[in-house]
Amino acid sequence: MAVANKQTEHRYKGIPASQGIAIGKAVVLRTEAFVFSAEHIEPERIPEEIARFQEALKTGAAELQQIIDIAEKEASHVAPILETYLLILTDETVSDSIRRRIQQRFYSAENAVMQEFDAQKQFFTLAKDPVLRERAVELDHVKDRLLNGLRNHSVSHSIAENAILIAPSITPTDLMMYNQEGTLGFVTEVGGIASHVSILSRSLSIPAVIGVRDIAHLILSDDMLIIDGNAGLIICNPKPETLAKYQKRKKEEEENIRKLGKLATAKSETHDGHTIHLLANIDSLEDVDAAQVAGAGGIGLIRSEYLIIKRQHFPSEEEQLEWYNEIAERMYPHQVTIRAFDVGSDKYAEGLPHEDNPALGVRGIRFLLHRKDIFKMQIKAVLRASKHRNVRLMLPMVSSIDELLEAKEFIEKCKTSLRKADIHFDERMPIGMMIETPATALMANDFAAIVDFFSIGTNDLTQYTLAADRTNEYVADIFDPFHPAVLRLMKMTIDAAIARNIPVGICGEMAGHSAATELLIGLGVNELSVTPPLLLELKKRIRKTDYGKSQTIASLALCANSGSDVRKVISKEKRK
Ligand code: PEP
Ligand code: MG
Repeated sequence: MAVANKQTEHRYKGIPASQGIAIGKAVVLRTEAFVFSAEHIEPERIPEEIARFQEALKTGAAELQQIIDIAEKEASHVAPILETYLLILTDETVSDSIRRRIQQRFYSAENAVMQEFDAQKQFFTLAKDPVLRERAVELDHVKDRLLNGLRNHSVSHSIAENAILIAPSITPTDLMMYNQEGTLGFVTEVGGIASHVSILSRSLSIPAVIGVRDIAHLILSDDMLIIDGNAGLIICNPKPETLAKYQKRKKEEEENIRKLGKLATAKSETHDGHTIHLLANIDSLEDVDAAQVAGAGGIGLIRSEYLIIKRQHFPSEEEQLEWYNEIAERMYPHQVTIRAFDVGSDKYAEGLPHEDNPALGVRGIRFLLHRKDIFKMQIKAVLRASKHRNVRLMLPMVSSIDELLEAKEFIEKCKTSLRKADIHFDERMPIGMMIETPATALMANDFAAIVDFFSIGTNDLTQYTLAADRTNEYVADIFDPFHPAVLRLMKMTIDAAIARNIPVGICGEMAGHSAATELLIGLGVNELSVTPPLLLELKKRIRKTDYGKSQTIASLALCANSGSDVRKVISKEKRK
């Protein structure tokens, strides 16, 4: 990649760490290498070096505590990240060992700190697991803080006021300080989506792109920059038309956020403090943006078959991986639920054998077990995307234990082949299932013992329970998710999940139905997943719900004998 020159627009791609658009001048920081003499000190300097170390430790801890106090006010859930730094910094074993290095090996304080932290770091650097590797970065940050203290060197965070910061890496503590000083956004060379800076930048809503190799050498201070934190894009010295386009987008985004008000960041909990995880159903990357803007707490359903529908062919493992990775990265640390291809029935029948009654035919898991070549590509892509630990896999249209066991065995085989190829993935990636056939709801106790989560697909559960085609307008009045038969199957499912302590959510349309919120909460679900445009309306209703009252509604609804009775119960109880 060439260094950008003032005349030409250059684009660089990185990992989208925190959404939003920032436009401004670049401030480039390059790390100075710490160069210390490796020579040993004279024994009489030992007390002085120990005192210097103690002083740096004390100042470092006080500074960190100050930043933690700021974090507690501005981004309270971030404070624990910074507390980890403080714990490392004040760890007795580490500081004892540093003091011993000074006393027994005649190292200067700087050398002793470097040697100790580098020794500690070795174990983590070699780890295959990105989360453990991230611990190595934490150690480096704490080490640099101590070394800066020893050199009486402190960074002036105001240099990046109203500018975009470009740096090889940035510590969460510095990020907090830059944010205080009004930095518009930042780009780093290193860092993964799981890193604490990514999490922190998201909490502080600062647009950020990370992992852009050599960027601190490709961009010059004062270059005009656009960073697009949604796409992970950096545009250096944009053409006037690009600039105008992004200025417009930025304005639209700000307008959007203003309109949504505080609700997007408000907690998803009932009036009396009962948490309901509010998730989004998505079919595309645009939906991810919408889900993020509305403050979704994760993705409860990715209808992955839309990848096939859009392309009109089954995508390769690599094509899928790119898509899943992008969603997992954009949503991190929130969980994303990838549903295996649910083809057949009314969704993508191209190349599938003709069936007279496709809704009762080869769809979902039935198709996947029949076409293991296709299933294998998908499982491997999902497993590979699981490396960040926020991915779970969900199986559609299950109707028997045998199907589920066969699928799980096949997933194990795919894991073995990835291990052999030395490809990293989340060994404990949760595997869940849709509850959308009456058979699985009736046997929910048995299924709950072998899966990690349930998600109730009320669209299909209603269609199969009431024998009413969901696409047929002539039976639209029969197709009623409020029918007590459907509710009782849901209740069996929820009770089985609670007994086994596994999450249970609803991702069918009923989750977003304006009359259903209290009823569903009262039935005991802990996740509701809806299309992004419904997220905020639903959150508003969740926040108005009284948990105790919702349980009364649910128990009355379960005793009702028709869908219209259930509706009456709901409106009567609401009026009380
Ligand atoms: C459902 O059946 O409720 C569901 C969420 O799956 P789909 O609508 O994709 O069949
Ligand atoms: Mg379904």
